[in-house]
Amino acid sequence: MNDMKKYLSETVRAIAPSGIRKFFDIVAKMDDVISLGVGEPDFVTPWHIREAALYSLEKGYTMYTSNQGLPELREEIARFKEKKTGLRYSPEKEVLVTIGVSEAVDLAFRALLAPGDEVLIPEPSYVSYAPGTVLASGKAVPVPTYDGDQYKLKAENLEACVTGKSKILVLAYPSNPTGAIMTKSDLEALLPIIIKNDLLVLSDEIYGELTYYEEPHVSIAALPGMKERTIMLDGFSKAYAMTGWRIGYVCAHADFIGAMNKIHQYTIMCAPIMGQKAAVEALRNGDKEMRNMVENYDYRRKLMLNGFRSIGLSCFEPQGAFYCFPDISVSGMNSEEFCQLLLEEKRVAAVPGNVFGVSGEGFARCCYAASVADIEEAIDRMGSFLRLHSREAI
Ligand code: PLP
Repeated sequence: MNDMKKYLSETVRAIAPSGIRKFFDIVAKMDDVISLGVGEPDFVTPWHIREAALYSLEKGYTMYTSNQGLPELREEIARFKEKKTGLRYSPEKEVLVTIGVSEAVDLAFRALLAPGDEVLIPEPSYVSYAPGTVLASGKAVPVPTYDGDQYKLKAENLEACVTGKSKILVLAYPSNPTGAIMTKSDLEALLPIIIKNDLLVLSDEIYGELTYYEEPHVSIAALPGMKERTIMLDGFSKAYAMTGWRIGYVCAHADFIGAMNKIHQYTIMCAPIMGQKAAVEALRNGDKEMRNMVENYDYRRKLMLNGFRSIGLSCFEPQGAFYCFPDISVSGMNSEEFCQLLLEEKRVAAVPGNVFGVSGEGFARCCYAASVADIEEAIDRMGSFLRLHSREAI
């Protein structure tokens, strides 16, 4: 009985573990590391949100909620989305509360994909869409995006990847790992292809509040004819510094929500009530702290961007989320070698760009949700690393 792997499903065996986690298991065993690694706010959840959860416990709210989530939370979500997009989602039929956006991604693929259906995933991409597709028997099709296009998804690059089997386009802007955004006109350019090929759009808007551009985030769902085609995902992890609470949600057509809720009720039952109570408070009264956090990230975004440029790393200016994605090719190393050696020699942890897909090769993801002192020290250490290792004199 020692070859236990033979019992595992072929599908799960074929999936590689997350490259981010693999890297950070190494980091966790080292001392004195400055981590620009895990994509997580460095703020603690604002006090009034924590207090709302404590208060709900004190009042004895410790039971299951409706599978779809607390009605008051679904109402707040519908109100919030109406304010942001002008779209009205029915809290009864078109909103589902999930265990983070992570669960929502899984539910959407499982509810919508038939074996062999293709999912178009703009790359470099957050790490869960491709495995999520495969686990739901679909086929992940990477669509490259480029530094020179500010990592926007271009219509011609999308069109080149569409086949008769394409069913879902993933749009995840602002982007993890690049910090790219898609403006209204960028999104409009994709509509003819989406409509002509009858695609659905899985729009992951978890960084929608974290933007540093003159226009606020625009959801593709708000464009003509797109509400019904869009499965809009969002959550509390990033904007409200609530990663540990595990609350996200989906807004979509009632038929899609019904199908996703079927899977959710048999696998999860419901999101934890304490987190849902906290999320209600976040939407009702969390705007001011959230804006302060965004202002603070913006300061650190500029600090990191200018720092990288000053040490000779070329870097696209991110306009959303909390990541810089510098081009590390000046080092003459590939992404894995660069991040491995930087960690060993200088004790700075960044994520190799290739874990976000082949088009991330030659880059590294650095999260600026770190302290100002750590960002400054990391840039110093990276500068001295590059002076030692660069192909070109810096
Ligand atoms: N979507 C993107 C683009 C992310 O970057 C992350 C986390 O890093 C998630 C989803 C997962 O979010 P949640 O904490 O809501 O599961």
